[in-house]
Amino acid sequence: MAHLLLVEDDELLRDGLCAQLMHAGHTVHAAGDGAQAQDVIAFTRLDGVVLDLGLPPVQGLAMDGIVVLRWIRRRLPHLPVLVLTARDDIDDRVAGLNAGADDYLTKPFDMAELLARLAAMLRRSRMPAFGGSLQTDAPRAHRLRLDPQLPMGWLGEDVMELTHREWSLLGLLLKQLGQVVGREEVLAVWQTQAPEGVASGAGGGGASGAGAGSNALEVYVHRLRRKLQGSGLNIRNVRGLGYLLELQAP
Ligand code: CA
Repeated sequence: MAHLLLVEDDELLRDGLCAQLMHAGHTVHAAGDGAQAQDVIAFTRLDGVVLDLGLPPVQGLAMDGIVVLRWIRRRLPHLPVLVLTARDDIDDRVAGLNAGADDYLTKPFDMAELLARLAAMLRRSRMPAFGGSLQTDAPRAHRLRLDPQLPMGWLGEDVMELTHREWSLLGLLLKQLGQVVGREEVLAVWQTQAPEGVASGAGGGGASGAGAGSNALEVYVHRLRRKLQGSGLNIRNVRGLGYLLELQAP
């Protein structure tokens, strides 16, 4: 049973699909446009997405399924996505597959076929050869790989020298690639580790305890960004929330 996101602007169809997916045992988040879909994806760990390609603009900006799919692929290269196309239009299907869809269905479709294709797509995504374990178990993405036990990593063939805190911070970001990791979550993990020199020095100037932690976090993020230069990965600051590891656009 999977955590799914259903993106469909047709309310009747969305409600109907949602009910049937839930009946099949899945947990379903529903979104009516691309912006809602982005919100769910940023804050939810998902196993798969069912994405309608014909979506309405958001605040005057084009935001169809292809735009959403490209956005997903930049953040979560391995998240399985099945696209729904309204027309039996080969261009539409090709565009969807080129933008990174794992499978497609043409409307109208049979619910049994959607469930079968979803199941097959989720099965494939769990096989390591398809990168399925990347999001949850093995701490690696793109050319970056972290040792699961020791504070070290590799960028391609190059060894990355990491302190304990850099390693645990990068590990948290990597396990939730494309999703926001809260400051508190990082600080809570750090509290279980021995302090490092830079942490106490960074929070000077009479800052409170919590402020000192946040300042130290910024220092570590800055250092990790430098170490990730040229890796194709970037740590983005999501104001007021935390940090997010993402693939840079090619
Ligand atoms: Ca539609």
